[in-house]
Amino acid sequence: MANMMILIFDGISDRPVKDLDYKTPLEVAETPNLDSAAERGINGIMDTIKPGVIPGSDTGHLAILGYDPYEVYTGRGPFEAAGLDMDMEPGHVAFRCNFSTLEDDIVVDRRAGRIKEGTDRLAKVLNEIELGVDFLFKEGVEHRGVLIIKDSDLGAKVSDVDPHMENASLHTSSPIIKGAENERTSQLINKFTEMSIDVLSKHPVNLEREEKGLPPANVVLSRGAGVVPVMDSLMERANIHGAAIAGIPLVRGVCKMAGMDIISVEGATGGLDTDIEAIIDSSVSEVQKHDLLIVNIKGPDLLGHDGDAEAKVDFIEKIDSKLGVLEKLEDVCIAYTSDHSTPVTVNNHSGDPVPITITGEGVRKDRVSSFDERSCGQGGLARIRGTDVLNIMLDLVNKAEKFGA
Ligand SMILES: [Zn+2]
Repeated sequence: MANMMILIFDGISDRPVKDLDYKTPLEVAETPNLDSAAERGINGIMDTIKPGVIPGSDTGHLAILGYDPYEVYTGRGPFEAAGLDMDMEPGHVAFRCNFSTLEDDIVVDRRAGRIKEGTDRLAKVLNEIELGVDFLFKEGVEHRGVLIIKDSDLGAKVSDVDPHMENASLHTSSPIIKGAENERTSQLINKFTEMSIDVLSKHPVNLEREEKGLPPANVVLSRGAGVVPVMDSLMERANIHGAAIAGIPLVRGVCKMAGMDIISVEGATGGLDTDIEAIIDSSVSEVQKHDLLIVNIKGPDLLGHDGDAEAKVDFIEKIDSKLGVLEKLEDVCIAYTSDHSTPVTVNNHSGDPVPITITGEGVRKDRVSSFDERSCGQGGLARIRGTDVLNIMLDLVNKAEKFGA
């Protein structure tokens, strides 16, 4: 039976742009390979979560994997933690963190000069803090990190310590919704923040930085609290073995929480410099080894956030130029889609539906011959939700189970 691949061009979907003659970047870009897929496939548009709801990359990917984000998602922390391979159990609470610079209780640099060296040594002393409960802090790329409080009876409906802007004072976390569990989490995170200042301020790594005129990483700012959810794996839910190729830790984390293997591809950075050819080459071989392969290419989202329509058009063409080899995968059911729109006119995600094309044996080919937001809307899939994708593909490859007798 055929295997499945879902190609997620992060944020590729857009709105009509005045400077592009009221076309979208995807409509303007020359995309012979995506258009050929649309011509061979069945097409539609997709509300990743539901109409008008703006997906994050985490909730969008959860929905595409068939999970109800409203059931499993309380915050980004746990998925970032999974992306860093941290051990955790359902009920623990995880936070995204930044090493930051504090001057007289004012956050003067949220990224501590994008500190690159010594964060492992800072993490070591943070993990020695006496918080009264089990916890684990792990440093990530540059100034980033994740904190997991490993205890039960914790809530995640708490405000952030991180003020989310510079030259603002440190916030005190408090419950957003009243309740003993949220209260407890707020108290613990406030205590951790205070103690992080104590142990980091005099740390040799920071004394050295100050000597060199660099901003010290003298506080840990946390945000995005989330309760680690109970998530049945794709194997348990649909009897499929999944794997993922993704440059950014958040998406790797979501896929890991779904019980998928994470495949590292040299050069797949999650940035604009990512090696698209290497990603696609590796996808072609990996899809033979797994029932389902998820491939995330992040670039279009970054350019949507930048509001750069022309660069987005160029990047879309660059992606398309590497997709030709996929046409030869005749026995693979492939979905070409996105996790959400990132319109260049919005500089952020939006709730506009995204185009989707599914190719493979047995699809009811329609009359669409161009992969873009408006053309796909004329196709045979019509308008679906993110949680429908995997069901539709499982059916096409004859791996779905009958409901009823
Ligand atoms: Zn984004």
